[in-house]
Amino acid sequence: AVINFGSINIDHVYQVDHFVQPGETLASTDYQQLLGGKGANQSIALAKAGTNVRHVGKIHESDAQFKQAMIKHGIDCKFVDCTDIPTGHAIIQVTPSGENAIVLFGGANQAIDDKDILRALDDAQPNDWVLTQNETSNIDAVLSQAREKSLKVAFNPAPMTESVKSLPHDCIDLLIVNEVEAAEISGCSDLADIEAYFRKDWAHAEVIITLGKAGVRMLRGEETLEMPAFVVEAVDTTAAGDTFIGFFLSEYTYRGSAEHALRRACAASALAVTRVGAAQSIPDAQDVDAFLQR
Ligand code: ADP
Repeated sequence: AVINFGSINIDHVYQVDHFVQPGETLASTDYQQLLGGKGANQSIALAKAGTNVRHVGKIHESDAQFKQAMIKHGIDCKFVDCTDIPTGHAIIQVTPSGENAIVLFGGANQAIDDKDILRALDDAQPNDWVLTQNETSNIDAVLSQAREKSLKVAFNPAPMTESVKSLPHDCIDLLIVNEVEAAEISGCSDLADIEAYFRKDWAHAEVIITLGKAGVRMLRGEETLEMPAFVVEAVDTTAAGDTFIGFFLSEYTYRGSAEHALRRACAASALAVTRVGAAQSIPDAQDVDAFLQR
């Protein structure tokens, strides 16, 4: 299984004519409440891709319906705890042109502690993978404890912060970054320089750099695998990266070759950008099969 230490957020999405101004009280024209968070999205993508995924996370006890929604997706939520800390959430304003402005509150996502990590990893099987992003607390302990248990570790440093640079890199087997994260970690702006940096300083790991509609590059030792993106009409790129990660890991960890996994992940994320929304835009395995057989 993939054990995902990941955020669970409630996305409060408000449609507004313009972003609220200082001192202004603005009525929104519509509202939706959705399950979100990079962690939850990646667990949903893994489950839809057909992989056993165990999510480790925290929500407030009054929000148990979100845990139920994850269970309905087929995610093992044995280690999703209900606490008295408010669930992580995002207040999202969306304008008619599709621009957004977001206030994020980490809440219960920031309460994952050493005890939670040890308990979840105590149950791990030798060929399990550990996955985490940068939206939960205590990531350095997740990485080092997973390594201590000789589990394979995949890390997606999103959203990027300075603290990522001081994490124990040597505990990471697979790093998945977008162009912005790759530039910030390496301190370089040119793709050739970025790759040279990862080849040198991350030689112990495989590194995937996703490049939006320019596709993806994977550095494995001396080798570089390249995969162009599929040409689709993009309407909403939210969760493209989360979909990519879920489908890539699903294929790579337990089934196929890196080439095959990259192709499948590109197909899944191309489908996701043709659909509006985050979790609801993630395709299932049959949709991806059909897309690849067009
Ligand atoms: P993130 O969402 O994390 O910023 P990217 O924008 O790099 O990540 O997108 C992840 C993957 O999704 C890309 O490698 C690509 O395969 C796919 N993708 C993203 N945008 C498009 C697009 N406009 N058309 C087709 N595929 C896309």
